[in-house]
Amino acid sequence: MKETLLSSYQVSETPQLLAKSSKKPTGSTRASSRFNSLVSGTRFLGRVVGSRYNPLLAQVVVTRRCNLSCGYCNEYDSFSPPVPLADLLAWIDHLAALKTASITFTGGEPLLHPELDQAIAAARRHGMIVTMITNGFRLTRGWIERLNAAGLQGMQISIDNLKPDDISMKSLSSVEGKLALLQQHARFKVNVNSVLGVTNERTQDVVTVARTAAKYGLQHSVGVLHDHTGTLKPLAAEQMEAYKLVTEISPSIVHTLNYRLFQKNLMNGRPNDWKCRAGARYLYIAEDGKVHWCSQQRGYPGIPLLEYTRADLRREYETEKSCSPTCTLSCVHQMSMFDRYRGTQVSRPPA
Ligand code: SF4
Ligand code: SF4
Repeated sequence: MKETLLSSYQVSETPQLLAKSSKKPTGSTRASSRFNSLVSGTRFLGRVVGSRYNPLLAQVVVTRRCNLSCGYCNEYDSFSPPVPLADLLAWIDHLAALKTASITFTGGEPLLHPELDQAIAAARRHGMIVTMITNGFRLTRGWIERLNAAGLQGMQISIDNLKPDDISMKSLSSVEGKLALLQQHARFKVNVNSVLGVTNERTQDVVTVARTAAKYGLQHSVGVLHDHTGTLKPLAAEQMEAYKLVTEISPSIVHTLNYRLFQKNLMNGRPNDWKCRAGARYLYIAEDGKVHWCSQQRGYPGIPLLEYTRADLRREYETEKSCSPTCTLSCVHQMSMFDRYRGTQVSRPPA
């Protein structure tokens, strides 16, 4: 499971929050970056208010293969090939036709896709906000320059612990050098994300990761672990304390939003009353090219993206998801919040 907080970029890219960027470009780079952010933020808000059926975020799996094998993850294998670039470009064109506001490229490990930067550039040409999620292991200066040139706007690098163990291999000891590289060369925003609740013994590791991210001038966010159905295990007292500390080390609107939208209740073992708009405001495009509600509810609706229409968006927007009370998928909570007080009509629970 990869807790996906890349929507932190989409959320923070609203015009009134532009001054919150953690990176410090200079001169024309700063002006250009701010202009691009302004355009992206304005366009995103336009999609929000333009129609309730405009997708706000599509997560696109560019390969299911991963170079690591974390014990708690169900989103990877060790053998899948990269999705052919021609397929990715067709998906991106169709997402643009559906008026999708932003794309996050993910995996598996997306840096195993040799033409990832071409897909990013194609999405940027459509005016979409483009971000990616990575474990960081394959980052090099060359990759960072390619991502800069493609117009990538945000990267989430996931770090769960200080040293690799059977549960998570995404460790600070393995990728701290990559954080320094990013600090020096990345022209996109970087967010370090840790998942709390992987093991109780690793609780303090998350605090150290947050402090290290701050040392490199990078934003940090924290997710909470869910199981294979997307359900949260309530946090222990020590984990609660670590969560509070981490949010103080790297305060952000995303922490505040996630806490208020769903984390507060779930961390205390209480369900949330909300309407999941997966399949409409949020799309998960798996390596099979089909639209799924999310990584944890594959198969629904399971329609090929190239056949997905606004009628599908309308239906899934209204469809109630019985897994919603204990869902921890922050990006879906965030993309659904804009329609919080609109009703649902159809009930179709997952298996
Ligand atoms: S690095 Fe990410 S995709 Fe790969 S196994 Fe670990 S959690 Fe899963
Ligand atoms: S509530 Fe929505 S995002 Fe959460 S697990 Fe269910 S379908 Fe996925």
